[in-house]
Amino acid sequence: MNTFVNFINTNTLYKIHSNPDHKSLRWYLAIKIGVQSTYMYEPILFGPIPSRRLGQSLGVNHIPYKCCSYSCIYCQIGRTAQTQIKRRSFCNAHTLHKKIVDRVQDIHSKGEAIDYITFVPDGEPTLEENLGEMLSMLKEIRIPTAVITNASLMWDAQVRDDLAKADLVSVKVDAIQLETWEKINRPHKDLMLDDILEGIRRFASVYTGTLITETMLVDNINDDKRKLELVAEFLSTISPASATISTPTRPPAENSVKPATQLAITRAHQIFENRGLNVQLTITPEGDSFTIAGELEEEILNITALHPLSKTKMLHILEKHHAAWDIVQKLIEDRKLKEVKFGEEFFYLRFFRKSN
Ligand code: SF4
Repeated sequence: MNTFVNFINTNTLYKIHSNPDHKSLRWYLAIKIGVQSTYMYEPILFGPIPSRRLGQSLGVNHIPYKCCSYSCIYCQIGRTAQTQIKRRSFCNAHTLHKKIVDRVQDIHSKGEAIDYITFVPDGEPTLEENLGEMLSMLKEIRIPTAVITNASLMWDAQVRDDLAKADLVSVKVDAIQLETWEKINRPHKDLMLDDILEGIRRFASVYTGTLITETMLVDNINDDKRKLELVAEFLSTISPASATISTPTRPPAENSVKPATQLAITRAHQIFENRGLNVQLTITPEGDSFTIAGELEEEILNITALHPLSKTKMLHILEKHHAAWDIVQKLIEDRKLKEVKFGEEFFYLRFFRKSN
């Protein structure tokens, strides 16, 4: 890609920027070489989808594909081509607000419930510099807001202020030892683990909303007794409302990643409980109650951009909407969707061009 950028000419750049299929590539170029910074990312809403922790969650995807400060080995949406930590204005707060208001009205008119409006993009949500404004604007809708963050920018006081505007914040704490953190989260080179942990502590000490945590267990990476005792010790200092233990249930970024064993999960549960944490285990897939608010094909792409669907779930969605498998087959043939096997199950993920 670097070579490509070095040789790309103005005419090619114009074509890329004019083509609606090249949204993520436009952002890659904007970040990499500073071109066309006026382009605003078109936010995507999906669901509500059943969330293991948040009930029926209307997902907000306000960050271009894989703009993230981490490249977690278990990431279900693939590797991060280039980690980043500079905050930017990716999408317009007013455009996003209008889109959410319209979507909420539409969903309520169908008698469907929304428990949370959740900022859970296919990247790190706090990279959006207008996140605080977006959350403030949503207060009038009177539906709780949630942000699922990897916490890597919480050393920044402005990020903490922005997050404080959400009703619920979930922070990722997979490891608190440098070597393990680097191995599992593969952070941007300028991130400092101690600063991040201190940022989380500061946030927890003043935050009035619901703070929860998530720890993803990967076999032989972060699931041994000592490592988990240290994580549990840290978590106990921030008193989260709940501490979730997960393990990969969908295809990970790296083929070598294996879910933690039942024994390791049970041990982790015990270690966390011994520290007085309210432990939640989310090691099974969510329910089937996906709400499709728009065109079925478009909604499948929006959901799978972030949330790979198992074949069982896909069939359930198609059945619910009286649609045939042909839709999925066509999306695969058009290279908009890809099929991946993980464990005994087939999953369907949004296909993004390699340049992403
Ligand atoms: S799991 Fe989340 S934090 Fe990790 S690389 Fe994927 S999007 Fe980024």
